[in-house]
Amino acid sequence: MFISFEGIDGCGKTMQSALLAQALRDEGRQVVHTREPGGSKGAEEIRRLLVEGHGERWSPETECLLFTAARRDHLERTIMPALEQGQTVITDRFADSTRIYQGAARADLRDVVDRLHALMIGTEPDRTFILDIDPEIALARGNARGGNEDRFESLGLKFQQKLATGFRSLAREFPQRVRLIDASGTADEVAARIRAAL
Ligand code: C5P
Ligand code: MG
Repeated sequence: MFISFEGIDGCGKTMQSALLAQALRDEGRQVVHTREPGGSKGAEEIRRLLVEGHGERWSPETECLLFTAARRDHLERTIMPALEQGQTVITDRFADSTRIYQGAARADLRDVVDRLHALMIGTEPDRTFILDIDPEIALARGNARGGNEDRFESLGLKFQQKLATGFRSLAREFPQRVRLIDASGTADEVAARIRAAL
């Protein structure tokens, strides 16, 4: 089983994907918990190119290529080998992030994103949990843990609002695969909603 967590910055993806991974391990499953951009040696190197430096270092088009290159390496080296061994893979972000960040929020490039995905990735998770939260709450959470540490998260509230709208639209576009999860409240409350949905 291949599961992805998606949503805006500060929505709780990293924590909730780790909690689900641990809960499934406690039930005896073998789980690989991974992330994007990153999740393999090569993809983590590409991550550094993406998150270091200022917000306009790459054009949206170049960003699409770098995120897709990182995803391809992550898929080849980490995700597919684990799935082939019957393990559960839980990733903190996957292709939906590129559909919304590069395809809708930074630029209107959804068609490019879809064509690159079809050519080079072609795989979707079995289930995707979009953690839906008010961007102001997410921003406050980010600040609380010393956020804005990289160029992307400094893009601001208006950008996060655009992202939130985009992610919600994915739940309508892919109703079979995507579940929208209310990400307000405590970590335990959100984790319980995710377990119920799964
Ligand atoms: O989720 P994480 O914080 O690890 O992502 C690293 C940075 O990359 C974030 O600030 C996020 O906003 C950004 N990002 C992006 N486009 C993507 C995925 C992540 O701009 N497709
Ligand atoms: Mg995170």
